[in-house]
Amino acid sequence: MQENDRSIAARALLRWYVDAGVDEAIGLLPNDCFVIETKEAPGASKPAARSVSAPVTAIRPSDLPSADEAALLAARMAAACSTHDELAEAVSSFTGCPLRSGARNTCFADGVPGSSLLVIGEAPGRDEDAVGKPFVGRAGQLLDKMLAAIGRSRAADTLISNVVYWRPPGNRAPTLAEIAICRPFVERLIELTAPKAIMLAGGVPTQALTGAAGIMRARGQWREISLQSGARFQALPVFHPAFLLRQPAQKRLAWADLQTLSARLRDA
Ligand code: URA
Repeated sequence: MQENDRSIAARALLRWYVDAGVDEAIGLLPNDCFVIETKEAPGASKPAARSVSAPVTAIRPSDLPSADEAALLAARMAAACSTHDELAEAVSSFTGCPLRSGARNTCFADGVPGSSLLVIGEAPGRDEDAVGKPFVGRAGQLLDKMLAAIGRSRAADTLISNVVYWRPPGNRAPTLAEIAICRPFVERLIELTAPKAIMLAGGVPTQALTGAAGIMRARGQWREISLQSGARFQALPVFHPAFLLRQPAQKRLAWADLQTLSARLRDA
């Protein structure tokens, strides 16, 4: 093979890896993930006492149930949980979501169980996957600032989670099937928390939980989340902090939405 052909082939192979979601070079020697029982991020700090995370166990793709079977199993497991700790255990032992096999850690929730404010985001990213907690990267730091602007924090009176608990490869959006598989756990988290208000961070959780499409139109207006159990909760879609990092001019609208959220938390 000519040098030029070799470099075209190498580039094509790298492109193929990136498209498949491989975005980190982690070693010079190949790793057979199927013979590694558990994986933990090198140097990852242990999660704080209040966060719920666990290194994931590798699963063979052929051992995965279908999406319908996985959602049914998730529903059975979630229904059996009567506390946040039990739910966290159930999620970390759940092997039905295909995202799990590409993730280092389960990122279930961070903050105070039973808070009057529940924040639900999209999916863990690279930083969250390394640490095992939702919203710890740059977007998470901005989320903390947004919460602080209305006198809230995950250390005191807010619980933070996502619609899926494992990082999608290459930070792509979670698929409808992945969201549907995790949904029973999301619904049980809402029921057990019984918050006065839910903040939906971005278009993905907004569409998944309220059916409203398009965060530009949906933001700032209260929506109802109806659970399988028949329970209903009030939710406010807001811009995702990662979007605000890219579009700081939109912080003005986000600020108005935070005031709307704060007023309900005060009055409810
Ligand atoms: N973005 C999300 O939606 N969730 C996280 O946990 C981190 C970034």
